[in-house]
Amino acid sequence: MNGLNEAQLAELAAFMQARNKVLRQEIREELLGMDKDRPRELAGAMDQGDAALADALVDIEAATIDRQIREIRAIEAAQKRMADGSYGECIDCREPIGFARLQAYPTAQRCVACQAKHDAQYAHENTPTL
Ligand SMILES: [Zn+2]
Repeated sequence: MNGLNEAQLAELAAFMQARNKVLRQEIREELLGMDKDRPRELAGAMDQGDAALADALVDIEAATIDRQIREIRAIEAAQKRMADGSYGECIDCREPIGFARLQAYPTAQRCVACQAKHDAQYAHENTPTL
């Protein structure tokens, strides 16, 4: 049970659909923009002997698109959960995630409490052990 009514689900579905469209448009424009302006910008940096800057520009571009693609994947996964009825339910405790949290973060897979637990564990796993 996700505790959401039809209107709430419809609102979240519409929001994700719109967001997905915006993201795809942005990526398209970035890829198209790269063909024209980007190589010139990179070439300019290279001409000034700044290969590091050129590398950095490519990295920034890649990071932006990478983030957008991740968001699209998250949205598509959420849309799939909506279709199979598991949307809005915490994947850890199976309790409703809550409409307010989903409005702020429609692709959320965990309730606030479980997300905090998950983040704490994840942060711990990433702590380098000497
Ligand atoms: Zn939970």
